[in-house]
Amino acid sequence: MHNWAANVEYSTTDLRRPTTVDEVSDVVTSSRRVKALGSRHSFNRVADTDGTLVSLDRLDVPIELDAEAGTVRVGAGTTHAVLAAELQRHGRALPNLASLPHISVAGAVQTGTHGSGVGNPALSASVAAVEIVRADGSLEVVRRGDDAFEASVVGLGALGVVTALVLDTVPTFDVVQTVHSALPWRTALDRFDDVVGNAYSVSLFTRYTGDSVDQVWSKSRVGDPVGLDLADLGAVPAEVAVHMLPDTAADAVTPQLGVPGPWLDRLPHFRADFTPSAGEEIQSEYLVPAEHAVAAVEALRAIGHRFADVLFVSEIRTIAADDAWLSPSGGRASVAFHFTWRRLADEVLAVLPFVEEALAPFDARPHWGKVATLDRATLRERYPRLDDFAAHARAVDPDGRFRNEHLSRTVLEEAPLD
Ligand SMILES: Cc1cc2nc3c(=O)[nH]c(=O)nc-3n(C[C@H](O)[C@H](O)[C@H](O)COP(=O)(O)OP(=O)(O)OC[C@H]3O[C@@H](n4cnc5c(N)ncnc54)[C@H](O)[C@@H]3O)c2cc1C
Repeated sequence: MHNWAANVEYSTTDLRRPTTVDEVSDVVTSSRRVKALGSRHSFNRVADTDGTLVSLDRLDVPIELDAEAGTVRVGAGTTHAVLAAELQRHGRALPNLASLPHISVAGAVQTGTHGSGVGNPALSASVAAVEIVRADGSLEVVRRGDDAFEASVVGLGALGVVTALVLDTVPTFDVVQTVHSALPWRTALDRFDDVVGNAYSVSLFTRYTGDSVDQVWSKSRVGDPVGLDLADLGAVPAEVAVHMLPDTAADAVTPQLGVPGPWLDRLPHFRADFTPSAGEEIQSEYLVPAEHAVAAVEALRAIGHRFADVLFVSEIRTIAADDAWLSPSGGRASVAFHFTWRRLADEVLAVLPFVEEALAPFDARPHWGKVATLDRATLRERYPRLDDFAAHARAVDPDGRFRNEHLSRTVLEEAPLD
């Protein structure tokens, strides 16, 4: 049994798919070691266990909108594609989405998954309440404002099995997506804030070699003031739909060319009706404070030749600050450097130290669901609340039922698993 990219073989074949919360409690209390499993889109061992994996994809939790509160309650294993379609039917929306809509809602927020946009925080910032089965099998509801709320949202599955989430929603909105190519790097760096702020959500695709940014994808809310025209900075507007990878058909990507459409069909890069069953890639991502964006780009351009052979493409996005203790964008407006690598595990591990060293002066925080080599000592310096999170995990899970080796190495105390 493996993850979506097939670069991680889980350490167990014991997978349970409960349909009720009582069944979730039974699975948790009857297994010495348990871990919630989402849609398996993480690239590292964060979801792994040598005990029992629990998928919430069959849990019977209807999607319920609360019109008065403007919130929606959704089962943990629901994908963003399913949730978004239901919200749209009721004239509601989420403020932002990740690039792929097939990822589970709980799995996404538990690792601090984000989209792009100077004003858009990580998806976890929309969480108003978390319903979670603890190590003793009890169901607890942790609401925004409660003591441990900011630990629980981005919880890496270390605090229990989330069964449902309550999310804030906003009125539905339409988006237009345009792509520009060949934006000269010098201009992009001189006008970085203007470029990433030219639309509601902006992504720069690059391989760091060469003199220009390969592509800029801009997603603008219909009705917002029109932003900077990248053509005025020397970029070339795409006249046909394009994929972010060269020489790749654009069938899988959401509509471009400035054609307006609902948020759920434009904010992700990939279409909901295109289901990639497996990935031929490995991903890494590092978030640095926004004020270091230009210096960090320059540091990566200086070493781009070192990883060029392993890299498909890199994506640069912006994320507003949030308050979750373990959110990679917690407490700081951030710029994220994402790397889609060829699925060559050893080669990726060999080049990551170059990337991590180049970004170290900027206190780069790795994405919890992607491949990185940083250990707990380094992460502790970069997350002021890491020890508080570990203490909270110990308090709610004293026997380490939800702990795994990956979490022990990166977040929780280093005591070996018995
Ligand atoms: C093609 C692709 C595109 C991606 N695009 C983006 C992107 O745009 N932005 C971004 O930030 N990331 C992106 N990611 C990364 C992805 O969003 C994260 O790895 C995310 O955590 C995957 O969620 P999942 O449901 O697959 O969870 P899994 O990978 O199955 O698990 C991840 C973690 O969540 C925990 N978890 C899952 N479900 C629960 C639950 N019910 N209760 C408690 N804990 C739970 C697991 O225990 C584990 O610790 C992408 C990944 C892929 C493969």
